[in-house]
Amino acid sequence: MSLTIDRLLRFAAVTLVLSLLIQSVPGQTPAVLIRNATVVDGTGKAGFRGDVRIGKGKITAVGNLKPSRGEEVIDANGLVLSPGFIDIHNHSESGLLSEGTAANQVSQGITTLFVGPDGGSPWPIADYFAKVQGKIALNVGGFIGHGTLRSQVMKENLARPATEAEIAAMAELLERGMLDGAFGLSSGLEYDAGFSSTTEELIALAKVAARHGGSYMTHMRDEEEGVLNSIREAIRIGREAKIPVQISHIKMGNSSVWGKSGEAMAIIEEARRDGLDITADAYPYTAWASTITVLVPSRKHDDPAEVQKGINAIGGADKVLITSCRGYPQYEGKTLAEAAAIANTSPVEAYIDIVKKGGAGVVGFGMTEADVKSFYQTPWVMVSSDGGIGGRHPRGTGTFPRVLGRFVRENKWISLEEAVRKMTSLPARRLGLKDRGTIRKGMKADLVLFDPSTIIDRATFAEPQIISDGVNAVFVNGVVVWENGKVTGKLPGEVLKRK
Ligand SMILES: [Zn+2]
Repeated sequence: MSLTIDRLLRFAAVTLVLSLLIQSVPGQTPAVLIRNATVVDGTGKAGFRGDVRIGKGKITAVGNLKPSRGEEVIDANGLVLSPGFIDIHNHSESGLLSEGTAANQVSQGITTLFVGPDGGSPWPIADYFAKVQGKIALNVGGFIGHGTLRSQVMKENLARPATEAEIAAMAELLERGMLDGAFGLSSGLEYDAGFSSTTEELIALAKVAARHGGSYMTHMRDEEEGVLNSIREAIRIGREAKIPVQISHIKMGNSSVWGKSGEAMAIIEEARRDGLDITADAYPYTAWASTITVLVPSRKHDDPAEVQKGINAIGGADKVLITSCRGYPQYEGKTLAEAAAIANTSPVEAYIDIVKKGGAGVVGFGMTEADVKSFYQTPWVMVSSDGGIGGRHPRGTGTFPRVLGRFVRENKWISLEEAVRKMTSLPARRLGLKDRGTIRKGMKADLVLFDPSTIIDRATFAEPQIISDGVNAVFVNGVVVWENGKVTGKLPGEVLKRK
């Protein structure tokens, strides 16, 4: 092999040794020493220069270490070595079945993700676990979706509260899911499958998850005008079911609540002081992605006054980008304002027509940076992507590098160590993962090697699949799954079950 300029660059040693590892005998995970790393261990404490040894899928030593005979050595050249990122809210459920190497996930440093958020989960979850076992690059755990339970029991008849008998039937299914290793119950109360449920129904089911040591994770009923009351509902469910609560993708979702993140957090802080174990996660964007119907929380989708109110609340029809549209594929990539112009009608009429013809997936530019910043500066708010393989929102590919590149390096909102904590030990604690989320002897060797001076997201709303920069190598259970800007094809991921 001739010496090229590339070989002389800073990462030469990393590249060379990792290539050797990849060519090693399949199924074996040789002992590796990663030297001269800036170890950011996930606890939030200051990064330190050190070495990390891994073997048999675990971290076997941390400190100032000398290479052992025959050991592979990677010179990290001062790059940051952190625990692998844990994404508590991820939609890669079906993507993992067709793309187990999960390029857009591992490329941003994700080593563990959780499927089944927003009330929708694979069912039965044991079948899903069996399908992905041995075929995935990263670790996967799951939640049981409340909407999924409702669909199982109530079939198409979801626009009403469940009866006592139906709640009992759902509880039985949830019990089975928890015994199969799920980490808790997720709800998606803004979506059709969950919207008509009562708080009492959710409390009854959350009690089942609580009995098995699970948590209640919720996409709340309303993230706009009614967001503060929705937070109060989540707190009530947590208290009455005696279950830890995770508020999914916390946000101030339209102009009616902009600037109220402080109020929202004060409500949660008070519950925390009263002893409720409640935390939240947030993705690092000011635009959400959902179904077009969330714009009209009253659900009067053919009432022009209500629709106008919803469009006004987000700040106008130009703030709504249509990403998928069954009835009108020609609207995809256009704003609601542009779609109305194409149809030679008003945005209100265009909305009513789109909903009648099967609805649409939309991105709503409905948040302010100030609110996102205040959530990110809150210690109990963790990072999640709410994305996944093949999604239409750039968060699916860019979330974790975006936080490290923009929020840490450029905006200086939080320290690097705090950002890493929000991506690692904080979600691990919420999920009860005792052997992941920090760099310590005995922990699983899920690791990310990245350059804090270059890491950045590149995915955009126009091109949401562009891979991020600055992640040099990703280890899952001691095996390299990402390096040199490519997946290695290795599939060391495990199915994680609640213990
Ligand atoms: Zn959601």
